[in-house]
Amino acid sequence: MVIGVPKEIKNNENRVALTPAGVTELRKYGHTVYVQVNAGEDSGFEDEGYIEAGAIMLPTIEDIYGIAEMIMKVKEPIAAEYDLIKENQLLFTYFHFASSEELTQAMLAKGAVCLAYETVERPDRSLPLLVPMSEVAGRMAIQEGAKYLEKPLKGRGILLGGVPGVKPANVLILGGGIVGTQAAKMAAGLGAHVTIMDVSLPRLRYLSDIMPPNVQTMMSNEYNIREMIKVCDLIVGAVLIPGAKAPHLITREMLKQMRPGTVLVDVAVDQGGCIETCRPTTHENPTFIIDDVVHYCVANMPGAVPYTSTIALTNATLPYALQIANKGWQQACRDNMDLKLGLNVVEGKIVYKGVADAFGLPL
Ligand code: NAD
Repeated sequence: MVIGVPKEIKNNENRVALTPAGVTELRKYGHTVYVQVNAGEDSGFEDEGYIEAGAIMLPTIEDIYGIAEMIMKVKEPIAAEYDLIKENQLLFTYFHFASSEELTQAMLAKGAVCLAYETVERPDRSLPLLVPMSEVAGRMAIQEGAKYLEKPLKGRGILLGGVPGVKPANVLILGGGIVGTQAAKMAAGLGAHVTIMDVSLPRLRYLSDIMPPNVQTMMSNEYNIREMIKVCDLIVGAVLIPGAKAPHLITREMLKQMRPGTVLVDVAVDQGGCIETCRPTTHENPTFIIDDVVHYCVANMPGAVPYTSTIALTNATLPYALQIANKGWQQACRDNMDLKLGLNVVEGKIVYKGVADAFGLPL
């Protein structure tokens, strides 16, 4: 198959859909890989690495779309790319169709085949191409939280791990899924005193078994949250209710119960946030303060660490890309239900219920 990797052009997107390691694998199976010049630069992958791995570099995005049967990307195409897409061309990338009717209509009109990373689904209902970004965001939440706890950044001025003779900080993590688990591991590793809350008792049992002794678990309910926020230094929002907006577990009125300089990192901000006072922020301007409480609510946290995020993402996407390249998308989707669930728009028709429902369009 002929595969094309354009440079991402969406604002602030520094990741790339394929690394030189991925090119090597695809080349092993006899596929031809075209990569746009400088596509990997912002993730730390120079053109020489791609060339050594056997890719052919092309100067423009038009060249890539013009030649490839499968386009591998990170972000959904933006308006400037719509006209480059050819009928029957396969696009393997994040789309998040349900949040944009314009994008959905554009892909329908183009007759493209859109295989969306975010709806590829394992039989246990996990989403293997979203997990790596949650892992990155969970780990980053503690790194960022620790930074904003510093006094010059308006935090309480407390070191997460304390030092001998001084108690460590208290960290509360709301939601013990992928983000919450990674955040807890990082905070515990730094020596903080960590509490994870979740509504799932089986999940709390599991976490209680695998976490180190400085992590405790608690049922997530209003009473427990009100008790904990009075004594916590850093609070991480990591809840997810699939297909729904996140519930506001921390309300505006609760901020008054927190100590000045407490830091809130609401990772769930992309689903509306689980802290009422959160609104999406950017890496350029990541925080704001309400009632002396620091809010960090960056909606694309992995974007700040493109080297790690690119490798984490491509580790997960490459096995699927290989199946598509080796068999063609039709056969690959017949053989692998995970991939079939990734099909959202196929040659002018919506084939994913969530997308059809979002706009009242036929399946
Ligand atoms: P997940 O499904 O693995 O975990 C969510 C957890 O929340 C589950 O264990 C669930 O039981 C728990 N939960 C549900 N209701 C709860 C409640 N009332 N109280 C406490 N826990 C509750 O999801 P995840 O992959 O960890 O993702 C968490 C959030 O982070 C999602 O909104 C996701 O979109 C977001 N995210 C954001 C970024 C970013 O850059 N900001 C990056 C990746 C993921």
